Amino acid sequence: MKPALVIVDMQPECWGAAKNPVLVDNIIHYINEWQKRNLPIVVVTYYGSGKTHRKILSNLKNKKQVTFVRKYDCGGGHEILSKVNKKKISHFVMTGVFRCQCVIETANELEELANKPTLIVKTLTGCDEKDIYCMCHQIKQTSKKAVDKLLKAA
Ligand SMILES: [Zn+2]
Repeated sequence: MKPALVIVDMQPECWGAAKNPVLVDNIIHYINEWQKRNLPIVVVTYYGSGKTHRKILSNLKNKKQVTFVRKYDCGGGHEILSKVNKKKISHFVMTGVFRCQCVIETANELEELANKPTLIVKTLTGCDEKDIYCMCHQIKQTSKKAVDKLLKAA
């Protein structure tokens, strides 16, 4: 197994949900798990929306393992695949914001274009769930256990 950790739009300057310290720490926990195993990490930013959370950036120790991807739209599937094509990734574990917008859209593109399973875990993704337009209840979410299982097999 060679799962990739995909970090989407964790840009606190523009997206309030990306400031959530619990979410940031949950993502950093998995950054460390990924780094221990030398697995690929993809950091995606929405063009013009500021820098990735500095706590996340400072925890990315081995830059060779990290692919930085800029996207110009909500979904970043094409942009990600054009950069990680040769890495033989088995799964994409999605993190970041907003769960029912850019995260799910990017996940759907990855599944469609790469035909690889994507996992969306509630505690690794953020949203504004009080917003009336939030569609998170429609998303099929994976348990954190499934991610831990993937890591064990990696
Ligand atoms: Zn939502």
